[in-house]
This record gives sequence, C-alpha cells and structure tokens, in this order.
Amino acid sequence: MNNLVTYQLMKPGRALMAPIGLYDYVFAANGTFIHAKNEIFEVTAPLSIIREKERMVRGLRSIQPSIKLPKRVPAIELQRMVDMSRLSFPNEILFYLKWINGQWELDVPPQKAWQVMVKPLEDSQYIPIEVHSHNSMPAIFSSTDNRDENGLRIYGVLGRVDRRVVDFRLRVSIYGHYSVLPYELVFEPIAEVKNG
Ligand SMILES: [Zn+2]
Repeated sequence: MNNLVTYQLMKPGRALMAPIGLYDYVFAANGTFIHAKNEIFEVTAPLSIIREKERMVRGLRSIQPSIKLPKRVPAIELQRMVDMSRLSFPNEILFYLKWINGQWELDVPPQKAWQVMVKPLEDSQYIPIEVHSHNSMPAIFSSTDNRDENGLRIYGVLGRVDRRVVDFRLRVSIYGHYSVLPYELVFEPIAEVKNG
C-alpha cells in the first residue's frame, strides 16, 4: 500500500507533479491536499474538506499536540502575579518568567504602563514566558498584543483583575502562529485564577 502513496512539497517555484504512485499528499502553503490523476482526469482536494474520519495522511504515523517545559511555574509565582496586577490596577503590568538555575524566576522588568498598554523600557534577553495584565477588561489578546507577540514564547494575559477570580488566557506563539492553551499546562493552578 505504501508504495502507492507519495508526498510532495510545494516549494516556491515548483509545479505540481503527477503522482508517482496512485495518489499523493501535497503539502502546500495553504494546507495539505490529496491529489490523484488517471488517464481521464486529475483531482486536488484540500484534506480539510474531506470527511473527518478519512482525513488521516496514510503512510505516516500520528502525533499528539504537546508542550514540554522543564517544570510548571509554581503556584506561589502565579499568586504574586495576581497580587501585583491588583496593586497596579487600573494600570497594566508586565511580567517576565525566566528559567534560571533550574527554577522559574518572576521578574517585573523596567516598564511604562498605561491603562490599556504596557511596554518594557529595554530589550531583554530571551524570555520564555511573558504575561501582562488587562485591568478590568477581559483576558483577550489585543491587536497590539498580536503585533508584539511573535517569537517562540508563551504569552499570557490576566484579565478582570478587579474580580475575586481573575481570567487567565495563555497561548504559545510559534513564530507568530498562535495556539491557546489551558493555563494549567504551564502554571500550577490556584483558586483565584480560571481560564478566561
Ligand atoms: Zn494586552
């Protein structure tokens, strides 16, 4: 069976070739396609429109989405972030979590804070986790956040910090491709924080 299926990479400048076997999977900028040709016709269909059960790329093995960190950020650091966000209210506050000597270290870098924005005053070295607060507003990433957040990094927003239980939205940026994560994957949970 496996010799009947092949794979093509649509690198820039490359034309779509006829399948070498019966059919092939084509990895293109806009997704994965299934592609086949016979004497009469040729078809190229995005895998995303195929019925879910049949969407598997045959001949490859499956993998699971995952995120691996040396360890979760301790609850005490999350609690400190919530407390400081409340103290800074109605201004925002920016936090860095640095991995130093086998520990997560919470840092509040020099910053300029407003009610709707916060900016670091200096460029820093690589920061794996960055969190900022959104005063009484929901924990939704703003268009400014989308512009600034584009490395390989975990970004978080603490929202509605004036409430008893604050909202926390966390996402990983894979060079500007975002994926939202339950915060418990990265932080030890506390009762004062829920996914927002
Ligand atoms: Zn923001």
